[in-house]
Amino acid sequence: MDFPLVDIHTHGPHVPHQVSVYAHDALAPAPLPGRPYSTGIHPWDAQNLNEDPSTLHRFRDSITPQTVAIGEIGLDFHTARTVTERHRQVYWLHRQGEEAAERRLPIILHCVRAWEELFSALQELPPIPTVIHGFSGSPQLAERLLSVGCHLSYGRGLFRSPKARASLRITPPDRLFLETDTQTEFPLRKIYERAAEERQLPMERLQAIVYTNFQRLFNLRQSL
Ligand SMILES: [Zn+2]
Repeated sequence: MDFPLVDIHTHGPHVPHQVSVYAHDALAPAPLPGRPYSTGIHPWDAQNLNEDPSTLHRFRDSITPQTVAIGEIGLDFHTARTVTERHRQVYWLHRQGEEAAERRLPIILHCVRAWEELFSALQELPPIPTVIHGFSGSPQLAERLLSVGCHLSYGRGLFRSPKARASLRITPPDRLFLETDTQTEFPLRKIYERAAEERQLPMERLQAIVYTNFQRLFNLRQSL
């Protein structure tokens, strides 16, 4: 059986013959009908938002039957430099994580230079299936994330970072995802090929692994 390529996290246009989870900005106008999407307030935006309940309502309104995950959400302390900005990112991660748990949707996380705070947040939130997107950290960090149940999604880092490649090699098959994110330099097929080579797997086997993970983790309420 042939399994389609799955792009777990993309900001790009629709690509035929592959499954893509489009990352929608929860505060932007509604996404195109018919495309599965994740919705969330990105930490870069969250850092500028106060705790206004109307913002939470707008986020909730962006969740529709097409929504297969909450994301991307998370923490980015490279961008958020002040205590207030960081506090807001943490606040919105919690609110959106709680919503995801309530709706039984997985979360797609962005994390930069805030790993300890992310581990604390994950400990405080109800258990939610979690994907760390664009992972290019060390195998030590990968081990810690895997030990608390996270899935790791790899993209362009596989071409640029020896750490990302080393982490990919130790990621168990049932925790593995692949993605394009915002970049167009490496199409999804290239990322799959790179990952297959690194793990010494035939492409078809890797496609089966990622597709099975996708089906297991994502609550698919419509045909893709
Ligand atoms: Zn993204």
